[in-house]
Amino acid sequence: MDKQFEGSCLCGKVRYVVKGPFLRFFFCHCSRCRRATGSAHAANLFTRAGNVTFTAGEDSIRRYDLPEAQHFSRAFCTICGSAVPYLSRDGRVHVVPAGPLGDFDARKVDANVFWDSRAVWYEDGLNAPRKTESELKAK
Ligand SMILES: [Zn+2]
Ligand SMILES: [Zn+2]
Repeated sequence: MDKQFEGSCLCGKVRYVVKGPFLRFFFCHCSRCRRATGSAHAANLFTRAGNVTFTAGEDSIRRYDLPEAQHFSRAFCTICGSAVPYLSRDGRVHVVPAGPLGDFDARKVDANVFWDSRAVWYEDGLNAPRKTESELKAK
């Protein structure tokens, strides 16, 4: 039996359980993912359709299929805007944002995809000083 991972949105309305096997784990640096996440890249896991079970708040999810794209979609909590898992447009896989899954250790990142579209400040940022939560609180 595969290990399961629990996730939820920021406000806690949407809750789900995800299981593997995980087919891919990508950091996607494309301009669509950068806009959709507001960050340097998306961090998405892919698991077979049916491996995601919503345990609460499924009626609070809104889905957006980018009209000009063949594959690009996203789904989010309509209350807090957090990314939540969704079924791919061809119905084959669930795309699962990795960030909310605590202690996820079932697959290593396979690749940084759309690397040529990465934010110009991304690599610099990785080399910036690292501060823990307690270091930020100490003053
Ligand atoms: Zn929410
Ligand atoms: Zn992308």
